[in-house]
Amino acid sequence: MGANLICYLCPNGCELQVLEEEGRIEVDGNLCEKGAVFAENEFVNPQRLLTTTMRIANSKSSLISVRSDRTVKKAEMKDLVALISKTEAPMDVAYGQVLLENVGLNGVSVVVTGMVN
Ligand code: SF4
Repeated sequence: MGANLICYLCPNGCELQVLEEEGRIEVDGNLCEKGAVFAENEFVNPQRLLTTTMRIANSKSSLISVRSDRTVKKAEMKDLVALISKTEAPMDVAYGQVLLENVGLNGVSVVVTGMVN
């Protein structure tokens, strides 16, 4: 089993090949060790910061932008987005305010990053 990835940790954008054989992971194409770690993490347990929007209570059109305070597993993104879409922020919401705590597999918080018109 394997995968082809592009490392985005620096402008070189190395094209990485990941190969898993008998539980061992080999990475080729990386110019530095950071790329090997990146590729292994992407292959075994890809994670991302979750960024999306949340409705403000009693307001049909106003949204705020929110993000997770840490990375979350890509596999759980859909469930977290569904939870956020069912949640409404208070009308007096403020930048940096925590709107959800200890959610998802890693117990992340969802914080306000800005207003959306
Ligand atoms: S492998 Fe190293 S040199 Fe290549 S893009 Fe990633 S960080 Fe940059």
